[in-house]
Amino acid sequence: MGWLSNIFNRSKNLEDVVDNLKNKLRKADERNLSLEECLVTKELDINKADKSIQKIIQIWKNINSSESLSKILTTIVNGLSNDLDFLYCMLFRIYSNKEGTKLKVSIASEVKYFNMEEILGNKLKTFSIPYDCKDNYIIQALKSKKIYQMDNFLDIFKGSDLILENNQLNRLSSIFMDREITVIPLMVQGNPFGCLLAVSLKKEVSSLDKNYLNLFAGQIELSVSMTKLLESVKAQAVTDVLTGLYNRRYFNEALDKEVNRSKRSKRPFTLITLDLDHLKQINDTHGHTAGDKAIASIGSALLKASRETDIPARFGGEEFAIIMPDTDTDGGIIVAERIRSMIASNKIEGIGNITASLGVATYLKHANTVEDLVKIVDEAMYLAKENGRNRIEIAKTQSSPGPKVEFF
Ligand code: GH3
Ligand code: MG
Repeated sequence: MGWLSNIFNRSKNLEDVVDNLKNKLRKADERNLSLEECLVTKELDINKADKSIQKIIQIWKNINSSESLSKILTTIVNGLSNDLDFLYCMLFRIYSNKEGTKLKVSIASEVKYFNMEEILGNKLKTFSIPYDCKDNYIIQALKSKKIYQMDNFLDIFKGSDLILENNQLNRLSSIFMDREITVIPLMVQGNPFGCLLAVSLKKEVSSLDKNYLNLFAGQIELSVSMTKLLESVKAQAVTDVLTGLYNRRYFNEALDKEVNRSKRSKRPFTLITLDLDHLKQINDTHGHTAGDKAIASIGSALLKASRETDIPARFGGEEFAIIMPDTDTDGGIIVAERIRSMIASNKIEGIGNITASLGVATYLKHANTVEDLVKIVDEAMYLAKENGRNRIEIAKTQSSPGPKVEFF
């Protein structure tokens, strides 16, 4: 029997070895399967990362080619909902007018799953949430500068002026059921700008998608900041920083245009030049900052006294001018006198009263070329200085009468 039990034992051992091997193979197979799954997920993540990078490149190309802000923001909002895993995105912006501060939809993504315009009509673009509303999550997110998570899309209308009809409520509820809604506050140069709202495609937003959402919200803030900066640089190029009036460059271009327009229409325009009296004395007595204050106050007077079509400018230093289209000498004198008395009657803190001397000349009446016009209006202004300052002088006709003029 010894040999029989020997064979039995050996075959048992062999069976154990085979079982063991089978187990190892099964475990290896399981590991392979989970690795494969992992690879598929990673591939999806890489695809998503690639799409986000492409989108960010597109955003920066748009910024670089000075596209309008609304086009840049539309690219961002649509990118989130069509290329990344978000069902729907909305950009809310703060709007202020005399009725108060409100949050309104600035951009809503266009998606293939449903048509929001068809459900809500123009209510989507016109509804507004008062900034002082206490129970609206979007307002709360913006005020607290914190990301908010919601699960009921209809909460965005809380406290707003929008009243939804039953069929609208039902359709929205069925589309947005079981979604995660993220509201990210947007700040531009330290000030509240609005909120980005993103509705998840799946029941929950993955941490990767949350990161992309934050990245895109950052792109919105950056785009708005850059556009604002660009606008202010452009504005500064035609504006005098101290007074807010047009600068010399803009003034010269505008004067040439006005001369050409006047030549064609045979209608006059009037030019006023102004020089602050005794600025040197103001600087010497009260300091350069006080001198700047006096210059700034002249800027305000010119802005107040001029119409929208007028072009008030500062040449630098203490010299100012206003181009008044379609204005004859009498009209120019009225404006010049208004400016003179406005300046003389305004007591400036730390300086007292200041005065200015003004010259008035009318194109096609006193001069027929731009050079002559500038020369005679300056001469008139210096005559006002000679004649005692704080006064107006009218230019003397320089050249022979030009084309027939229609005065009115
Ligand atoms: P007048 O009545 O003849 O115009 O006398 P005024 O002293 O105003 O004119 P003047 O031409 O003798 O001197 C102008 C002074 O204005 C000298 C200059 O230092 C000063 N000034 C020029 N630009 C500025 C400026 O931007 N800010 C300040 N504070 N002073 C300026
Ligand atoms: Mg002066």
